[in-house]
Amino acid sequence: MTTLRTPTQFCERGLAPLERRPLLEAVGARYAVALPEPLAQLIDPNDPDDPIARQFIPNTAELDHGSDESADPIGDDTFSPVEGIVHRYPDRVLLKVTHVCAVYCRFCFRREMVGPGKTKGLSSEALESALDYIRAHPEIWEVILTGGDPLVLSPRRLRSIIKALGKIDHVKVLRIHTRVPVADPARITPELVRAMKVKAKPTYVALHVNHPRELTALARAACARMADAGIPLLSQTVLLAGVNDTPEVLGELMRVLVECRIKPYYLHHGDLAPGTAHLRTDIATGQELMRGIRGRLSGLCQPTYVLDIPGGHGKSPVGPNYIERTVSNGNTHFIVEDFNGRRHDYPPRNLANAE
Ligand code: SF4
Repeated sequence: MTTLRTPTQFCERGLAPLERRPLLEAVGARYAVALPEPLAQLIDPNDPDDPIARQFIPNTAELDHGSDESADPIGDDTFSPVEGIVHRYPDRVLLKVTHVCAVYCRFCFRREMVGPGKTKGLSSEALESALDYIRAHPEIWEVILTGGDPLVLSPRRLRSIIKALGKIDHVKVLRIHTRVPVADPARITPELVRAMKVKAKPTYVALHVNHPRELTALARAACARMADAGIPLLSQTVLLAGVNDTPEVLGELMRVLVECRIKPYYLHHGDLAPGTAHLRTDIATGQELMRGIRGRLSGLCQPTYVLDIPGGHGKSPVGPNYIERTVSNGNTHFIVEDFNGRRHDYPPRNLANAE
């Protein structure tokens, strides 16, 4: 499979104007660039606002760094006790197995860490130390393989990591975060799918996908290979201006995911990564979109809208909120809003009559 690896190649392919080549090369010198053929084919070169191009074609706005942006917007480093591990929450860790991705997203929250020339990959010794850390912490119930993208690893390398995790008794659940099924669906071979699994422990796959057009026939078939092998699939979507910030696009994406046996999991508010302001929405927009989805679509199609609190304080759901609490005459009252926006009293609990 071909992958476009420089802004010059993007221009020569007609995906960006030739006259912008020097500026885009400056962006490419700062942040990793790669666009595999299956995604390049989805771009309409005649549409200046193409939602696929917005995600992957470098933009000179990336060189504008806001004072509120940070090289490590979700505080991975603060919570990294050993190389390759992020231990932010009590019962789970991230295991960053590679710094390489199949495609480099222009809004990536780890853009200072992924790609050639950024942090070095995890050596065999560092991986062993990371596994030792997991072995030594019985509170770790779940291990999330991330990166970079774990599914760029060879089946042999992935199998050895999954097998090592499978042997740790207190680790009960594995999860893989990936964009490969949409970026390079042919990589999801039966051999790679077998390598994701280990006896008696579930491996969940969380697919990063932001626009319904990314779920091509080949991407759907790649997801089906995992689902047919008994791997539960979840989705992660980043809310992006000009990509999926309309109720129509976001709703269609959620429906297509469910049709592909992928349960919508998170809608992420864009992180404060350097040079990504042009792709971020505000939180009020995200809440309005979530209201639109709640009112129109099946419960299966509802992701949780979350914000990673800058500094590494973890994810919090950011609404919208449907319930208000008031206190009158010593009783707590709730007012709850339905999916049409109508408000209803919920009766206070009468402790005197409670048995
Ligand atoms: S695939 Fe994930 S880690 Fe890689 S560039 Fe895109 S968002 Fe970042």
